[in-house]
Amino acid sequence: MKAESHLLKARCLMLARKPWYGHAAATIQWDADETIYTMAVTVRADGQVVCLYGPKFVLECTVGELAAVIEHEIEHVLRQHCGRGRGLDQNLFNIACDMVVNGHQQSPRIGIVHPKTGYPEIRGADQICWLPPSWCADLTAEQCYEKLVANGVQARRFDNRSLIGQHDLWETADADAVSAAVNRFSLAAAASGAVVPETVKPFLDEIKPPELPWEEVLATFIRGTSDARKRTAYSRRSRRVDCFGMPGRKSNEVCHLAVVVDTSTSVTDAVLSKFFGELEALSSLATFDVLTWSDCFGTFLSPYATGDWKTFKRNYGYTDMIAPVQWLCDHQMLADGLLMLTDGYCLWPKPQGVPFLVVCSSPRGMITEPDWGKTVYLNFK
Ligand SMILES: [Zn+2]
Repeated sequence: MKAESHLLKARCLMLARKPWYGHAAATIQWDADETIYTMAVTVRADGQVVCLYGPKFVLECTVGELAAVIEHEIEHVLRQHCGRGRGLDQNLFNIACDMVVNGHQQSPRIGIVHPKTGYPEIRGADQICWLPPSWCADLTAEQCYEKLVANGVQARRFDNRSLIGQHDLWETADADAVSAAVNRFSLAAAASGAVVPETVKPFLDEIKPPELPWEEVLATFIRGTSDARKRTAYSRRSRRVDCFGMPGRKSNEVCHLAVVVDTSTSVTDAVLSKFFGELEALSSLATFDVLTWSDCFGTFLSPYATGDWKTFKRNYGYTDMIAPVQWLCDHQMLADGLLMLTDGYCLWPKPQGVPFLVVCSSPRGMITEPDWGKTVYLNFK
């Protein structure tokens, strides 16, 4: 039990300091196992990541050190190391994987920087496998392995260095399951509004999760936000303000989503009709405050009523999606989540710490997606 709460503290530290990893860690199943000396991660066939930990080891680590170990394990999954390296010298491949995950000792990839030392808290930093200083930081585990082989490195005598965690369970993971696991990390972090670190993006691009129909993504987003509100409502302060003459919300009220609609003419009536058709069908799950905006304020409907979209005025101006979010913040109307309909040719608002979904009317690949939340495409001609 003690080890469990120590782990929980480490995950809380990650949520505060490395939120993307903290949310990824929350999707992992944590099981105590006396036969594990440190920590060992694996991925079940359904994509569930399971992390076995030795309770004794967990209690020997500081909270900061434990956070670095957890991040190390997540990185192995993210880089899809589990289930790879078949046919290679397994000990040497393990070293290559740890080198890639840990990075260079001068600038480690993992760990939470300690304010006093300015260096991440990493247990036994002098005894673990780092990338040699002259090696490129972007090597894959296989490239790193090749270099180790070329340098005549014998795994058993590699400087007497040790792995962080154990790789014993990797053999059981298959490639599809690992992709599904990475997708779970990604969805959990997106649903919470966590910013995707630059270093993580390439791995998320690689897995290319199967594209769900946008209607399904929208429904899942609204349902998830509604459920989250039910769970947290008792402790959340009301964001409604008196100037709109509205009372504070009670915990049993349905969730409120702020919807920003880009009313530049590139978002056609057909697009509006399709989008609001879906939204109206989901109105039992949430109420919507709709703010229309192109290059300036259009209208604010609180709450939106069926068919209101037909009254929107259109504008030939450029699209600004930062100002409307600022407007919502200024008026304290950024409620339980933020939904946006736009052609995507715009600058994106900064992360606001709420769930965020963009429904984009342009085809995938044409626009730059925001670096937080999730983007789906209407695929509508
Ligand atoms: Zn490792």
